[in-house]
Amino acid sequence: MKQFPVATINPAALRHNLSRVRQLAPDSRVMSVIKADAYGHGVLTAAEALTDSDAFAVARLSEGVLLREHGIEKPIVLLEGVNSEADFITAARYDLSPLIHLHTQIQLLQRIKLPKPLQFNWLMVDSGMHRLGISPEQATAALSLLQSSQNIQGEIGLMSHFANSDLVGDPRNEAQLETMLALKQQTVLPLCMANSAAVLSYPQSHKDWVRPGLMLYGI
Ligand SMILES: *Cc1c(COP(=O)(O)O)cnc(C)c1O
Repeated sequence: MKQFPVATINPAALRHNLSRVRQLAPDSRVMSVIKADAYGHGVLTAAEALTDSDAFAVARLSEGVLLREHGIEKPIVLLEGVNSEADFITAARYDLSPLIHLHTQIQLLQRIKLPKPLQFNWLMVDSGMHRLGISPEQATAALSLLQSSQNIQGEIGLMSHFANSDLVGDPRNEAQLETMLALKQQTVLPLCMANSAAVLSYPQSHKDWVRPGLMLYGI
């Protein structure tokens, strides 16, 4: 008799859940969130099952390096970003994309010279969650600093996170989306906002990219 619980991970179920994301957000690209060891399911198992993703997002540099060392070639965003020259260099070497969410990260990028420029870059804008990001008022200035940096290559995307997307109809969701849509219109940059709850219940927020985590794991 087994004395402990056993979890069986079925990669086909992960793939099925990703296909549901595609059905719900047919016009958006999908950045599959596989942070925290794919919410405990195993980051490599998840990355290999979710090959139909357009990109992946993890929290940390070490998770991104692990994926690259196992041959995962899709773009990988580091949601926590990085905060030292050494970590920026590692990110560049492994073609990882640290999220820019602090002014100090922008200042650091202006000061250093990476071995090669970072690609697939995203600026986190704090449209109302008040956890992470540059304020909407400072976003365009931050973007121009980044766009003129020799360490940044290609288009920079706009990212933001809903504070309350679980609450369907919460007016704060609409206010956040409006803030980001104004910024998108002004900058003509791609927007990535919707987490799982917003993929499921807030289609107006899908836009260029969606960023589901929980629903990939059947929650
Ligand atoms: C965890 C996370 C997500 C995924 O959210 P879910 O609610 O799990 O779909 C998206 N974006 C960011 C920045 C996250 O940290």
